[in-house]
Amino acid sequence: MTAAAPPGLPAKMHALVREFVAAPHAVADAVAEFGSPAHLVFPQVFAENLERLRTELAARVPGFRICYAHKVNQSRTFVEAARAAGAGIDVASAAELDSALKAGFEPERIEVTGPKGEGFVRELVGSGVTINVDNAWELERIAALAPTRVPVPVLVRVCGFAGTPVSRFGVPLHRVDAVLALLAAQRERIEFRGFAFHLDSGEPAERVRAVESCLMLTERAYGYGLAPSVLNIGGGFRQVFTADADAFDAYVHALRESLVGRGEPMTWGGNTFGFHLEDGAVHGTPVFHKYANIVSADRMLADLLDTGLESQGGRTFAQVAGENSIEIWLEPGKALVDHAGITVARVEFVKETADGSTLVNLDLSRDTVTPADQEVMVDPILVPARDVPDPSSGAAGVFLAGRLCLERDLITNHKVWLPRLPAPGDFVVFPNTAAYHMDLSAARASMHPVPPKLAVVQRSGTFSVGRDVDWHEVH
Ligand SMILES: *Cc1c(COP(=O)(O)O)cnc(C)c1O
Repeated sequence: MTAAAPPGLPAKMHALVREFVAAPHAVADAVAEFGSPAHLVFPQVFAENLERLRTELAARVPGFRICYAHKVNQSRTFVEAARAAGAGIDVASAAELDSALKAGFEPERIEVTGPKGEGFVRELVGSGVTINVDNAWELERIAALAPTRVPVPVLVRVCGFAGTPVSRFGVPLHRVDAVLALLAAQRERIEFRGFAFHLDSGEPAERVRAVESCLMLTERAYGYGLAPSVLNIGGGFRQVFTADADAFDAYVHALRESLVGRGEPMTWGGNTFGFHLEDGAVHGTPVFHKYANIVSADRMLADLLDTGLESQGGRTFAQVAGENSIEIWLEPGKALVDHAGITVARVEFVKETADGSTLVNLDLSRDTVTPADQEVMVDPILVPARDVPDPSSGAAGVFLAGRLCLERDLITNHKVWLPRLPAPGDFVVFPNTAAYHMDLSAARASMHPVPPKLAVVQRSGTFSVGRDVDWHEVH
């Protein structure tokens, strides 16, 4: 009998990205030219993700719009890819709006979400973009600032659906009547396009309840003489990280065993990943819960569109939208950048700690690939240094450590089994990092510069790599 394979967390990867990582010298050459660590984005994968969502919508409803949620990544290449594909864009700050306009989005294709202050509202009124209104104050300011001849297009975000955790965003359901009265009174200045919601949760039942509430509100709006024609269902369509759900479950099982002292130790520094230990047993939901998901975003969208709605006599969401000439809008962020980015770091040195653990130190810090309270639960890929033969030495269980002079700068707090012990100069590739990680928590701790962002495109089997900000030249 051979020894059991060590626990692993194989990453799902797009074939194009896998090909790039496996291409001789591709990673080493990119880093040699632009520096390490580096973020790499793949606009062709982004375009495919967009097309998959579009296919599901086009098969079911006559009118829809996909607005790329810019917040998920600051990449100029992704914004250009969204524009080139004819999508809309969802921006949540003055700088994101600027980025969308610079990429060539017409105001008609831009939607502005999120909390907005006086200055931003003033900038938006009269610009032609659709304002996704967060609250009654915003609406009153728009009414006060708007010219009478060209009404300002708005969506109204609502919240407070049954069974959904309280949200800081949107107008609570019980306040909607006051908003509808205001919209009816301000018809000269405000063009009410419809209701919107966005749920963080990936729970299908929550989204269905939100859709039903918004359809009822839409009907109520007709009673005020308003003519909403859009229902914006937001983002929250999930990513799939794992290539092997059984392997993922087996890893988590081994991890839980290790937390109660059975089997090989697998955690750094007493980390429990959100589990809590009681009476020698492991309870609760771990912080890395999202890595277990195996339902793709397009499937999740299709299922939502095909759900029979109790409040609509069992007709599906898609049927109800079609019959009432309601356009369905989406604001996917992470679903569009799923598998469309990787992060490359260089191995600086390998050391042993007092407890016998092996630390692989990288030129990267934790905040570059994950928020502090999360944990990356897919295995990175080890890529040998340029022109160094791969010294296959057998699997090694290690922790990946960051470059900051802080105890907490461990990139993985769980043990990662690599195919061999890395050596200085090797590269480590973190798969699927384009959603939020690249920008949202990136800090300049210890005065390290923020890693460069590069765009990779494949044409006729050849990869070209350029700076994301110079996308026009790469293109
Ligand atoms: C963040 C955000 C999104 C995108 O969310 P994902 O989960 O990345 O799809 C969409 N809409 C709004 C209003 C947001 O705040």
